[in-house]
Amino acid sequence: MVDYHIHTNFSDGEVDYKTVIDLAAKKGLEAIAITDHFDKNDSNLRNQFATEEELLKHFSNIKEYAAGKPVKVFCGVETCTDFDGRLNLSERIQKICDVIITSPHYVEYDAHVEQEDYFNKAYWDAYKQKLLHMAAGKGDVLGHPEGYLPIGKFGTGNTTYESRQKICREICERFFDRDFIDELGNRLVKSQKSYELHCATFTPRETVISRLAEKGVTFSIGSDAHAMNILGETEWAYKMVRKYNLILYQPEEKTM
Ligand SMILES: [Zn+2]
Ligand SMILES: [Zn+2]
Repeated sequence: MVDYHIHTNFSDGEVDYKTVIDLAAKKGLEAIAITDHFDKNDSNLRNQFATEEELLKHFSNIKEYAAGKPVKVFCGVETCTDFDGRLNLSERIQKICDVIITSPHYVEYDAHVEQEDYFNKAYWDAYKQKLLHMAAGKGDVLGHPEGYLPIGKFGTGNTTYESRQKICREICERFFDRDFIDELGNRLVKSQKSYELHCATFTPRETVISRLAEKGVTFSIGSDAHAMNILGETEWAYKMVRKYNLILYQPEEKTM
């Protein structure tokens, strides 16, 4: 099994890269990708101001420690793009990342929204537009398009993790219709970007998986582990792979 979406304490993960690599080896994973957040425009990130030098050092530490280990370790980042799907990463960083996950962590949407107005159509229209741009743009993987939706703008004070998951599922059902999924699939096929099977949230919906698979979209598998209890817990994704005969994404190792 593989897991191509893992965080360490370089960003908001709980443990360091050594612990991640050791545990992945112990669990018998074939390959993992350490994909810490790297996004200078995301004020929610603890490491918003991490420098390129720090990221490069992080990668070389990982490669050095992983050498000779029974698990293959790729280095990459998880980052958001601008509204038009352009990467906020320098050419230099793009070149050395084995994996670039672009995830819709925020939407450029300036209009006023009411608190708890989670089903605000205009906002989700903007989200979908951004996702289409991201699907057409650079990067290897479109991260969790139906999981961890950016609902923070509406205030999440009275919600629990479970109730937020439920809200996200409802938003997907209401707004992410077949025409949208078809267009997303067309763009992913054209850009050769993969869609993420996000094991932390068991998203996307199966109807989406089967529709995208019909179009020839490839899929990436990730736990999005921040804590070690879910590292490598990707059985759900493999179940989907078998059920829908999915084509899997395989990272390419870059030279540093
Ligand atoms: Zn994310
Ligand atoms: Zn993540």
